[in-house]
Amino acid sequence: MQTSIIGFPRVGALRELKFASETYFKGKLSSDELLRTAAQLRSAHWSLQQAHDVDYIPSNDFSFYDTVLDTACLFNIIPERYHALGLGELETYFVMARGYQGEQGDVKALAMKKWFNTNYHYMVPEIDDRTAIRLAGTKPFDEYTEAKRQGISTKPVLVGAYTLLKLAKYVGEKTAEDFADSAIDAYGAAIVKLGALGAEWVQLDEPALVTDLSESDLALFTKLYTGILASKGNTKVLVQTYFGDVRNGYVELQALPFDGIGIDFVEGKQSLELIQRFGFSEEKTLFAGILNGKNIWRNRYADTLGLIQQLREHAGRIVLSSSCSLLHVPYSLKQETKLQQEHKAYLAFAEEKLQEFTELKSILSVANPTSHAEYARNESLFKEERFSSNTAVLARTAGLTDSDFTRLPAFEEREAIQKAKFALPLLPTTTIGSFPQTAEVRANRFAFKKGSITEEQYKQFNFERIAECVARQEAIGLDVLVHGEYERNDMVEYFGECLDGFLFTENAWVQSYGTRCVKPPIVWGDISRSKPMTVEYSAYAKSLTSKPIKGMLTGPVTILNWSFPREDISLRDSAYQIALAIREEVLDLEANGIEIIQIDEAALREKLPLRRSDWQSDYLNWAIPAFRLVHSGVQSHTQIHTHMCYSQFSDIIRDIDAMDADVITFEASRSDLAIIDAINECGFQTEVGPGVYDIHSPRIPSVGELKDGLHRMLDKIDAAKLWVNPDCGLKTRGETETWASLEHLVQAAQEVRQSL
Ligand code: GLN
Ligand code: ZN
Repeated sequence: MQTSIIGFPRVGALRELKFASETYFKGKLSSDELLRTAAQLRSAHWSLQQAHDVDYIPSNDFSFYDTVLDTACLFNIIPERYHALGLGELETYFVMARGYQGEQGDVKALAMKKWFNTNYHYMVPEIDDRTAIRLAGTKPFDEYTEAKRQGISTKPVLVGAYTLLKLAKYVGEKTAEDFADSAIDAYGAAIVKLGALGAEWVQLDEPALVTDLSESDLALFTKLYTGILASKGNTKVLVQTYFGDVRNGYVELQALPFDGIGIDFVEGKQSLELIQRFGFSEEKTLFAGILNGKNIWRNRYADTLGLIQQLREHAGRIVLSSSCSLLHVPYSLKQETKLQQEHKAYLAFAEEKLQEFTELKSILSVANPTSHAEYARNESLFKEERFSSNTAVLARTAGLTDSDFTRLPAFEEREAIQKAKFALPLLPTTTIGSFPQTAEVRANRFAFKKGSITEEQYKQFNFERIAECVARQEAIGLDVLVHGEYERNDMVEYFGECLDGFLFTENAWVQSYGTRCVKPPIVWGDISRSKPMTVEYSAYAKSLTSKPIKGMLTGPVTILNWSFPREDISLRDSAYQIALAIREEVLDLEANGIEIIQIDEAALREKLPLRRSDWQSDYLNWAIPAFRLVHSGVQSHTQIHTHMCYSQFSDIIRDIDAMDADVITFEASRSDLAIIDAINECGFQTEVGPGVYDIHSPRIPSVGELKDGLHRMLDKIDAAKLWVNPDCGLKTRGETETWASLEHLVQAAQEVRQSL
C-alpha cells in the first residue's frame, strides 16, 4: 500500500516562516535571508516525509502567503494596479496580499476569503477583461527541481483550473467561461514543463468539486479538463478533491482521462456510496483520503482497514492519503512538553499522522493485519475510557427547553429601551474589541506563563494598558469603548484556557492567513465554567470612564469551530455545553454593571456546510440556537452585540437576524459592501456596523474614503441603525496606524453625522 500527502504545513514547527516574513516586512531581513529560511523549511518538510516513507510527497505546497495567490501569480493573474507600482516579483506578491502605501503609490490588498469550510484564508484572484492567463511564473518548477536536488522526487501540486476560475472575482464583463481556453493552455504548459523536469505525477487540487455544481459548472469543468488532459503526455494527473464528496461530478470525473482521483472519505458523507453505486475506473488510481487532515485525533486502524476492504471491492489500485492538506493541523506533538502522556496517546498532529501512515503501511503489508502489534496497540487505545463525564453539565444540556433559547421582550421593544438608555449619537462609533498586541503586551504574558513574574504583576501591567487604552479612546471621541483584550493571546484560546474541559498546547499552531497562525484548543471532556473569565478587566475599564464599556466574549459556535472538536459527541451537544458556560459569563458581566456585551461569532459562517441542502439540517439548526442560548437571560436594556468576519453571509442573512442580537458588526470593506444590499432587501432588524476599513492591512484610510464608505452605506441602511467601526479587531496592527485610522474614523462619522 502506497501513501500520499496532499500538502504539508508550511510555516515551520516553531513558526519560522512567520517570524522571518514579519522581520522582512519591517525591512529588517533581506529577501535573500527570507528565501533561505523558506528553502530550509521546504527541505526539512520533504526530509521528514521521506523519513516516513511517504510515496507521494508534495512540492509547491509551500507558500509565502497563500497557494491560491501563488497560482494566480503563476498564471499572470495580477491586476494592473500592482504591476504599476513597478516593484520586484516578491514585493509585488506581498503587496497583492497586504496592500501598499508608500513612495510608489497607494493600493489595497486583494480580497481575502475563507478557504471552503476552514479557518484558512485565500487571496481572491481578480480577473478583468484584459487579464491574459498564461504561464508566467516558475515557482512549481523551481521547487520541484529543488527537491530533486535533494534526492526526492515529488508530486508537484497546483490549485486546479476549475477551482481557480470559480474562486476568482471577475471585475469586467467577462466571466470564467471566457478564460477557459487560455487556462487550458496555461495549465497544459505547466504540466508539460513539470513532466519534462521529471515529475511522474502532478496533483491538481479541485476542492470546488465538492460544492453544489450546476450543469454549466460541470460543462466548464469538463471543458477545462478535456483540454488540459489532452496535452499531458506521459505525465500522470491526479485530480484531488477534499472537504466533502463529489456527488454531482462523480460520473464526469470517472469519464475524463485522469490517472488518479483523490476522494475524501472523512468529510465526504456519500463518497463510499458513490463508489459502490457507480464503480471506479480500472485505469485509475484511487487516492483514498482516510486520515483526517483537519482534526488531531488518532486514526482508528480498525475503521481504516474496514474501509479499505470495502474500497478494494471496487478499485484496483488504492493509495492511502490524508483527507485534505495537513495544513489544517499543527506540526508535531514533539513541541508539546506539558501535555500529559495519557492525552498525547490519543493525538496525532502532522508528524504523528506521517507515523500513522508508516504504521498502516506496515499493518497492511502482512497477511493477517489484525494480528499486527501496532494494530493491537491502536485498538486498545480506543477501548479505554478517555475521561469521566461531568454529570452536572450533561443534566443541564438535557434539561434545556424552548424558553432557554428565547430572549424577551422582542427586538423592537428592546431597541427603543436601549436608545433611551444609552442616548448615543447617530452613527455611534466603536471598535471590535482588541487593540494592538505590542511586543510589551506579549512579553508580559510570556513572562507570566514562564513564571518569571507574579500573577499580580501580570495583571497590574494589563490594568495599566487598559487605563491607557480607555483614556485614548475617550480622547479621540469614540462612543462605545472597550478594554482592549490585552489579556488574550487569541479570542478562542483564551476561553479554552479559562473553561474546564479543554486541553491547550504550547506550539500547536495552525495557519489562518498569511503569517497569522492560531492555536486551537482541544475539546477533551464536557465543558463548564468554574470562575468568571473577563469580569475583572471589563469592570476595571468601566470604573475609568462614564462612557459605555463593551464587554467582550467569544460565542459558542466560534469557540467550537476554532477548536479541535470531540468526535464522540455531536457538535450540537458540544456547542450547547459551551453556550451554557458563556451564558454564565454574560450574566456575571451584566451583574457587574457592563451594559453592552459583544459575543463574537467570527467563525459562524465558516462551518456552514458547503452544500446548501445541508445548511439547516447539519448546522444552522443548532448554531443559531446556541448563540441565542448565550444571551437569552439578559435584561431588556442590556445591549448584545455580535461580530462576524469575512462575511459572505448574504445567503444566510435571515438566520443571522434570528440570532436576535441587538447590534452586529462585520467585515465589509474587502467585500465591496455587497452585504449591504442583502441587509436592505431582507428588512434586517438588527442594527449594523459594516466595517468601514480593512484592518488586515497597515494602510491608514483617509477621512474622505471613510466618508464615502459611510455615504454608500447610508444609501441602503437607515441612519438610526448604522454603527461606525473598523472591520475587525486591531490586535495585529501597530499602534501608530491604529490610532491614526481611528481618529479618521471618528472624524468621518462626525462629519457625516452633521450632514444628516
Ligand atoms: N473581539 C475580537 C477582536 O477584536 C474579534 C476578533 C475577530 O473577529 N476575529 O480581536
Ligand atoms: Zn472579525
